[in-house]
Amino acid sequence: MSEFLTSGKLTLKAYVPGEQPQDKKYIKLNTNESPFKPSKKGIKGVIKASKNLQLYPDPEVKKLISAVAKTCGVKDENIITANGSDEILNFIFMAFCDGTTKAVFPDISYGFYSVFAKNNNVPFIEIKLNERFEINVEDYKSVNSTIFIANPNAPTGIALGLEDIETIVKSNPNNVVVIDEAYVDFGGESAIPLTKKYNNLVVVQTFSKSRSMAGARLGFCVANKQLIDDLKLIKYSVNPYNVNSMTYLAGVGVLSDEKYTKSNCEKIIKARDYTIKELRKLGFNVLNSKANFVFCEHKDISGEELYLQLKNRGILVRYFKKDRIDNFNRVTIGTMKQMKIYIETVKEILESKK
Ligand SMILES: *Cc1c(COP(=O)(O)O)cnc(C)c1O
Repeated sequence: MSEFLTSGKLTLKAYVPGEQPQDKKYIKLNTNESPFKPSKKGIKGVIKASKNLQLYPDPEVKKLISAVAKTCGVKDENIITANGSDEILNFIFMAFCDGTTKAVFPDISYGFYSVFAKNNNVPFIEIKLNERFEINVEDYKSVNSTIFIANPNAPTGIALGLEDIETIVKSNPNNVVVIDEAYVDFGGESAIPLTKKYNNLVVVQTFSKSRSMAGARLGFCVANKQLIDDLKLIKYSVNPYNVNSMTYLAGVGVLSDEKYTKSNCEKIIKARDYTIKELRKLGFNVLNSKANFVFCEHKDISGEELYLQLKNRGILVRYFKKDRIDNFNRVTIGTMKQMKIYIETVKEILESKK
């Protein structure tokens, strides 16, 4: 670092994204991307927009907002979009947290929450998940802080029911509750309908996972108009053109092809159920996942060794060197063909340990 970095940033530890190695072709099961190409309608949008790159995009991204609102069954005024849901989460930290309004989230959850908190000088509390890696709803009642819950959670894949979400939202009327639904399309229950009933609930979703758009960077957020207006205040103070024109029209195109998204999600769910069944047959402890990944551990091999051995054999999974979960691998669900190769390779590795 230079001598000019401000003292507040000296201890900041950046978020570490999953590997995107360029040295050879891997079966990539490490960053929860979709194994399927984006909808052709989305690609058409990119090509159309690319012909007018001399112009700024519509800062209001009106067509996209309307398409998202229609898909979610809410009004346009209830939606804001951004450069990935990561950017929305950062806007939320900027708008609804500060030195006195702390952030609260589970000890095992999306690693970016604590980075956003530190970068925005927001004190935060991590609440321990129970020994089965589940949220204890009581812990989140009247916490007097802004709450962040990924549902289904990452990296566990475990989903919280809507009733529990409602209990948490209801018991924190003076604070914003953020439900990060990056993985909701793979079998979770969305809290979007509750945004009509509660003025303190923010639901964040992304096009990165179920809609095969991780490279385009597009996320959105659903909440009542007042909360959305607060987030627009931040957006227009940071980056009014945060959704570029190619991503804008890609998003509109993808949303006009929900049948494709649904069918891809069904394929993932089928491959996930296969993977869970096979891993359990091999003696793995696999958490019940409602996401496009599974979280698993085996008593005969450490999480780190399995990760490294798989990498040697051309398969990338995610390993977190973190207290409580350092024996686990998080394995993204790819195509059925990829999952069969993964299972066969795991079998080989376990055999070689005998
Ligand atoms: C992937 C992910 C995101 C980030 O999604 P982008 O829209 O690609 O920025 C947010 N939250 C969770 C829990 C995720 O897993």
